[in-house]
Amino acid sequence: MTEPLLYLSTRGQSPAATISSAIAAGLAPDGGLYVPEALPRLDPGAFDPHGTLADTAATLLAPFFTGDPLAEALPAICREALDFDTPLRPMPRHDAHMLELFHGPTAAFKDVGARFLAACLRRLPRADERPLTILVATSGDTGAAVGAAFHRQPGVRVVILYPDGLVSPRQAHQLGCFDDNVQALRVQGRFDDCQRMVKAALNDAALQAERPLSSANSISLGRLLPQMSYYAHAALGWWHEHDSPLNLIIPTGNLGNALAALWVREIGLPIGEICLSCNANATLPEFFEGQDYRPREAVATVANAMDVGAPSNFERLRWTFPYAAELRAQTQAISVDDSTIRDTLSRHAREHGEVFCPHTATAMHLLDRLRSVGNSSPWTIVATAHPAKFESVVEPLVGHPVAVPPALAAMLERTASAEVMDADDEALKRWLREPAYA
Ligand SMILES: *Cc1c(COP(=O)(O)O)cnc(C)c1O
Repeated sequence: MTEPLLYLSTRGQSPAATISSAIAAGLAPDGGLYVPEALPRLDPGAFDPHGTLADTAATLLAPFFTGDPLAEALPAICREALDFDTPLRPMPRHDAHMLELFHGPTAAFKDVGARFLAACLRRLPRADERPLTILVATSGDTGAAVGAAFHRQPGVRVVILYPDGLVSPRQAHQLGCFDDNVQALRVQGRFDDCQRMVKAALNDAALQAERPLSSANSISLGRLLPQMSYYAHAALGWWHEHDSPLNLIIPTGNLGNALAALWVREIGLPIGEICLSCNANATLPEFFEGQDYRPREAVATVANAMDVGAPSNFERLRWTFPYAAELRAQTQAISVDDSTIRDTLSRHAREHGEVFCPHTATAMHLLDRLRSVGNSSPWTIVATAHPAKFESVVEPLVGHPVAVPPALAAMLERTASAEVMDADDEALKRWLREPAYA
């Protein structure tokens, strides 16, 4: 058998792990994030040019699963998880394209990672008979995707933590609508608090011994790796048609989606420039402009799924490009404030009849800026969610109701509820220990 590809912690203090155990664990024991010991290299010629998204994913991810018990099931996992399209649609008015990542069950790109993670965990044998509790901190979209992916899966409970009042009404409804094995907690704080609480619980060995815990944040390799698939698929399709690489503008918060694109380029597939568009949380734009990396508290914006002041995947980015100069050369990032997001949404609706979600609007604004300084490259902007999820922001700006996709409509018809929790690590730990919960 071929040597397995092993995974190391970005903090260097954990033993090497197989992909199965890295996926099962979420976070490495030293608090770092798992990364492959070396990124594989792949040749565009290795892919079936007529393959589906799931076929592309299976070829792309095979080297990451080399020698692992999940390797054999990988094509089936990809078919299960990636059973919806991620079309690349022309935007002729802008000489650009849009990569639509919102055709999954919860109408945001997070469905891809959540469904892949669920398909892996379903197949991993567990020594422990007790249910596995999956903790997920969400700034809005992750929680719903993970809840939907694990809903009614035997042996798994999902606990969703979201910042109360900082997600859209429809997002809150989605998060609380699952019942059964999926519970939502409305945390009296910000997304960064939710993320910190999850990390604290996962890092508590005594708690882990009582309640087996795992995470489903974008820190999980089981979510990050499959996100490479749609970039690889779109880039290969583009390359066959145009014989040139695909240039991307990616709305970015925690850096999971953008890191996947950077990895696809790094492993040798035809992606050209990658630009990041952030909201008013400017940690990444400041770093890429040359300032020190300065993580901070997030501020709330109308693009709430990107309200991140301390992007956790930055550790992986740094591992990938250890030298600051090399890292800064990989991409550029801009910060787009709320009034510019609003202005972009209303202007594009008025002038072109186009409707985006507020996150996608940050990418659209960056494209507008590039065009206004004479850049005529064939850019692809990445649409991370359906605008109907953010109706309270979008509809007043575009001046008409946005049609709700059927899967989202079905969720909105269910009743929803969520428990209140203080933004306190110990409060979550106590709650998880409660016998009623076992
Ligand atoms: C999660 C999310 C983002 C940000 O993605 P990251 O991987 O955290 O950078 C952008 N847009 C939407 C709609 C999202 O749900």
